[in-house]
Amino acid sequence: MRNKLAEILVDKGIDATKVLDAIKTIPRHLFLDSSFEDHAYQDKAFPIGAEQTISQPFTVAFQTQLLEVKPNDEILEIGTGSGYQTAVLLHLKAKVFTIERQQELFKKTKLFFTKMGYRPKKTIFGDGYIGLASEAPFDGIIVTAGAPYVPNPLLAQLKIGGRLVIPVGIDEQIMTLFIRKSEKEFEKKEFGSFRFVPMLEDKN
Ligand code: SAH
Repeated sequence: MRNKLAEILVDKGIDATKVLDAIKTIPRHLFLDSSFEDHAYQDKAFPIGAEQTISQPFTVAFQTQLLEVKPNDEILEIGTGSGYQTAVLLHLKAKVFTIERQQELFKKTKLFFTKMGYRPKKTIFGDGYIGLASEAPFDGIIVTAGAPYVPNPLLAQLKIGGRLVIPVGIDEQIMTLFIRKSEKEFEKKEFGSFRFVPMLEDKN
């Protein structure tokens, strides 16, 4: 079923071998509530509690491909959610720092990582809008919730040559890639529209 899913993603334009390899390897059904297990290998998003969703496999693959992860890269992920995207990054041998804004999901997924033997460098309950200055700069930052605007701290926390992949917009999001060219210059590229749950602001 995972191989079939990878074939669907190839048909949709994913060509990064290592990303496809991650999709073929990671047991996505374990990241879903059991009632949805039958659906785990369709190219669809699903509810994971606290009004959140596990992203569609195509979206995960597309964002990961844009990030161009190399082994040992330090990657900041905003929106841990189910942990599936985290597992994809770990499969690519990245050092992953992941932040979740919802306490319930943070606790559940942190436990799940331990149970499964997934080892992000840090799993943090916090606010993605401010990033993670204490561990910056990063080779890559991936935002997995819809951002109404591009938070400046995330741009500031990129290494020179580092990449920020962020869906920007309110009802619909444009997948946007920023590459840091120098201290002050960023190259910006846009890649079509997607739909994400909103990146939460001002949450206590
Ligand atoms: N990467 C996840 C996708 C989860 S959906 C996966 O593979 O399952 C987006 C996640 O972003 C949700 O879990 C949501 O609670 C979280 N989120 C929303 N606003 C956030 C913020 N300001 N900071 C960090 N995480 C946030």
